[in-house]
Amino acid sequence: MCKYCIKYGDGKKWYLNPRNYSDEVIRGESTRVRMEDTLLGQLFGLKGTIQEIMTTAQRFKVDVGLGEKVDDVFPDLHDDSARVMREQIPAMMEQAVAGQVVPLEDAEKIIDLNEGDIFVLPCICRKYYGGREKMCCMFLRPAAEPLQKNIGSWDKPNKMVSKDEAKRILRELDGEGLVHGIFWCPAPVPTMLCNCDYPYCIAIRARFHYNVDEVFKKGEYVALVNTLDCNGCGGAPRCQTRCIFGALKFSPTTGKVHVNQMQCWGCGLCRTACPNDAIKLVPREEIPQLKNVW
Ligand code: SF4
Ligand code: SF4
Repeated sequence: MCKYCIKYGDGKKWYLNPRNYSDEVIRGESTRVRMEDTLLGQLFGLKGTIQEIMTTAQRFKVDVGLGEKVDDVFPDLHDDSARVMREQIPAMMEQAVAGQVVPLEDAEKIIDLNEGDIFVLPCICRKYYGGREKMCCMFLRPAAEPLQKNIGSWDKPNKMVSKDEAKRILRELDGEGLVHGIFWCPAPVPTMLCNCDYPYCIAIRARFHYNVDEVFKKGEYVALVNTLDCNGCGGAPRCQTRCIFGALKFSPTTGKVHVNQMQCWGCGLCRTACPNDAIKLVPREEIPQLKNVW
């Protein structure tokens, strides 16, 4: 289990702990930290508690060029002069916003645990980087109604959907190969269920481009290929094209696919593409070499 499960999971994964969806935790955590006291708040000019920010139009002040701003900030973190800032990142992520990869079945459990409907928006990351609009940002209870009330014009179209419809959308996006991620805001309040990919997802970019691992944790699972069931898809592995993390390798010698579990983020997208059911997810914690690789 990751450090967030240990700290916030009550023996479960942090995002499957019903307590983290309760009024007590949402109200308590969302009003605990003032963003102007955090590095993130200072970077993006956010003031007030997360609850206050959600219930006003403040977040829209950071829309223009956020993608470029993030790309500008992260390289600087590797400069010696930014060492202090770099050291603050883990705490900053815990106090503000960061996330973790989840497979489809856990994303559906998150929808079940969330009280009320889900607010769906066009993907914010895609917008910041000029990608094609896609309705794949899902906001859970702490943000759903406040955002619906305070939405800015750039966030249209948007829609409030039922749990069943949210799950249908999740399955559709999974079929399209988008990685599911649950983001807290702040930890341990599950606030956003994102469905994104490279090169648009700001969190994935932060890791791929700048090694800022705290932004987006790997999932609680890793893929395992049953080579007896894998036929290599005749030399054109369907699973491999789904893995944006480069964890699957096709061997021309064996005619099968093999997984590099150190590179696997546990998204499960390879599994849902396999016509032979040759891939399953296994708990990361059961593999000694991987249980602390996040
Ligand atoms: S999709 Fe399944 S059968 Fe095809 S290469 Fe991957 S694991 Fe093997
Ligand atoms: S190997 Fe499969 S589960 Fe692992 S990161 Fe790649 S697509 Fe996701």
